[in-house]
Amino acid sequence: MKNIYGYKYNDLENKLIQINEKKYRAKQIYEWLYVHKELDFNKMTNLSKTTINNLTNNFINDYIKIKKVQISEDTIKYLFELKCGNLIEAVLLQHDYGNSICVSSQVGCNIGCSFCASGKLKKIRNLESYEMVQQILLVEKETKRRISSVVIMGIGEPFDNYDNVMDFIRIINHPKGLAIGARHITVSTCGIIPKIKEFILENIQVNLALSLHAPNNELRSKLMKINEVYNIEELISTINEYIKETNRRVTIEYVMLEHVNDNKKEALELAKLLRGMNVYVNLIPYNETKVKVYKKSSMIRIRKFYNYLKKAGINVTIRKEFGSEIDAACGQLRASEVEK
Ligand code: SAH
Repeated sequence: MKNIYGYKYNDLENKLIQINEKKYRAKQIYEWLYVHKELDFNKMTNLSKTTINNLTNNFINDYIKIKKVQISEDTIKYLFELKCGNLIEAVLLQHDYGNSICVSSQVGCNIGCSFCASGKLKKIRNLESYEMVQQILLVEKETKRRISSVVIMGIGEPFDNYDNVMDFIRIINHPKGLAIGARHITVSTCGIIPKIKEFILENIQVNLALSLHAPNNELRSKLMKINEVYNIEELISTINEYIKETNRRVTIEYVMLEHVNDNKKEALELAKLLRGMNVYVNLIPYNETKVKVYKKSSMIRIRKFYNYLKKAGINVTIRKEFGSEIDAACGQLRASEVEK
């Protein structure tokens, strides 16, 4: 038996037909689950007793649990406990234009980037799509706020859990459910090329972000060992293919590590690498983790780096810092909890 929050709309219709229910019930059920946020089948007042029994016998409908909440000025961080006892986290970010959430896609991560706290704990398993959907639902329920945008930038590598992540995206995007617009959903990858190619074929207006973090292979391989498998030249050519096929602009993420990748040399190299591409670079102030190998670049160095790119005609922004005082960088809350 599968959790009902893991059903895409069409799959739910098909499942209902299989269990001798009418297809249109999918609409009613989606409304209860996602609009009214009612998970108790017995309280779905437009369903008959027989249908309710039928649903109870064919679907699981429980939630993951909120284990811990950390609140700061503009950020609320949630630690969730899954049914198997494992922990994951999500962060709610409050912007002037609305609320966005950063969700996890795996328990742990196997990519092992040297600056990242998530990878310190190896991947235990992929998240099911319902476990990703419920991170959003629970935060909406808890805060009574609507979440208008979603970034898949929490713990895990989404393209190492491709099918579940795509199901998740289609569930939250569905107009009869949470109806989060595709343009308001961003999936961030360390650069798993075969999956980027698959993503090109999805025909959905979701944003793609690439964690580049270095403009040459030597440095990138030091920071991200995945670069030994998929190098910069192949990545750039795949990103160009994505841009050509989808006509969509790609975000290039670049975490600012003091005296490591934030020098003038790297700025100029990066500008050269990205020249003429439909991309924008998002400079991310590093959230220092317990592993004290890297330091966060000073704001002065970040501004200088920004100016070099700007002068070279590259679109660039500096990411607003959120929640550094509550360890909001992905994996930090879970890491400190698991250590205990
Ligand atoms: N695995 C995916 C998505 C999760 S991480 C990916 O690699 O893109 C989301 C972004 O945060 C990535 O760009 C990642 O490199 C970056 N990141 C990881 N640890 C960080 C930290 N301590 N401070 C700032 N950014 C960090």
